Amino acid sequence: MIDRARLAELTAREQRTFLERNPRSRAAYDRAEHLFGQVPMTWMNKKAGAFPLYLAEARGNRVTDIDGNVYLDFALGDTGAMGGHSPAPVVDAVQRRIGDSGGVTTMMPTEDAEWVGAELSRRFGLDVWSFSLTATDANRWAIRLVRALTGRSKILFHSYSYHGSVDESLIVVGADGEGTSRPGNVGAPVDVTLTSRVAEINDLDGLERQLAHGDVAAVLIEPALTNIGIVLPDPGYHEGVRELTRRHGALLIIDETHTFSAGPGGATKAWGLEPDVLVIGKAIAGGVPSGAYGLTREIADRVLGRTDLGLIDMGGVGGTLAGSPLSIAATRATLEHVLTDAAFTGMIEVADHYTDGVRRLFERFGLPWTISQLGARAEYRFVSPAPRNGTESDAAADAELEDFLHLYLTNRGILLTPFHNMALMSPVTTRDDVDAHLAVLEQALAELTA
Ligand code: PMP
Repeated sequence: MIDRARLAELTAREQRTFLERNPRSRAAYDRAEHLFGQVPMTWMNKKAGAFPLYLAEARGNRVTDIDGNVYLDFALGDTGAMGGHSPAPVVDAVQRRIGDSGGVTTMMPTEDAEWVGAELSRRFGLDVWSFSLTATDANRWAIRLVRALTGRSKILFHSYSYHGSVDESLIVVGADGEGTSRPGNVGAPVDVTLTSRVAEINDLDGLERQLAHGDVAAVLIEPALTNIGIVLPDPGYHEGVRELTRRHGALLIIDETHTFSAGPGGATKAWGLEPDVLVIGKAIAGGVPSGAYGLTREIADRVLGRTDLGLIDMGGVGGTLAGSPLSIAATRATLEHVLTDAAFTGMIEVADHYTDGVRRLFERFGLPWTISQLGARAEYRFVSPAPRNGTESDAAADAELEDFLHLYLTNRGILLTPFHNMALMSPVTTRDDVDAHLAVLEQALAELTA
């Protein structure tokens, strides 16, 4: 279908353009001798060009690199900046906390925390909340709580899910249908099958087979997969998950870190899910580190009633900077003024426009590709029909095509998230921004299929 020789030729041309456009980023990368892998975090080497672009400024949905190139940003920090870059209410709240009142981190609560807890309850339905600095940590602590409560050892995940660098989660369904270590798992503490079980999304029989072992403390899932393309749940899937978890005595942890894009209360509110524990991070503080997990009152009371658990001291649940005045102030500002109910309505309308436009282009160029949307985010895969589970979606990856499209768009001022073909709409992303992206994508597909 795709002429691979032509694809390679076009990619080589785009690589040359990338080098010409970005001499300062290239020099900065070449100078980076004291960074592990030449980058501040190893995943920054996930790039289609020969080096990462270095940031100068970011406001709203516009990013400027150190060569002065300006980008329309649909990556939005892979969700961390879903509210747009440095939204004014967050900047004000952070400045007040750092400058006017002082007290970035004090070991004392601020009154903002109860406001945030109440707002998270209104949105997601869980009764009480605790804070972290990352979604990874919120997941880790939620896992400890459910293990302690149930006395069971294992956590069950969807195959090819991602929940942060959580040891237990690096498991996929292997060729024999049973769990096996995810390829690339770095320094696993123990064989992951000792701590975890796994099932494909949309496979209730597989889920039931795993739960029937009776050793699963909790099922920890995203409502839709978002880290291997977007894989949406079949109608009735979540009702089935909830029924099976209840029948087999397993708790349900829903990770809304990415699926928050579905609406102000994430997919949990939008689809009427009933988790026992809910985890969220990234976007809730407008880009400032903050995460949270919510518990039903029943679960919270049961945990608090356990005098053997070291919740207050060094029992393994806690971080010194978690719930700090700064991150809580930023979370309040984001929820109160930026990622509001009204903002989501606009973001989702713009995402509808994006999805329609991309779908129409695939049809026009006769490409057997699909796009899936989850509220304010959308993502395409190079396969049709859309994959129904993680293994299928993994098999549909096409690094050559992905690199070409990323480079083509980047060289013309459009950023998608480097980890996939994901585009996310912020409250300030407009239909015109989407049209600008569609015009460049159209050009790319025309060249690719010429
Ligand atoms: N949960 C989900 C669903 C995620 O997508 C991610 C990160 N992509 C995380 C948790 C972890 O977030 P962080 O790296 O900010 O801890």
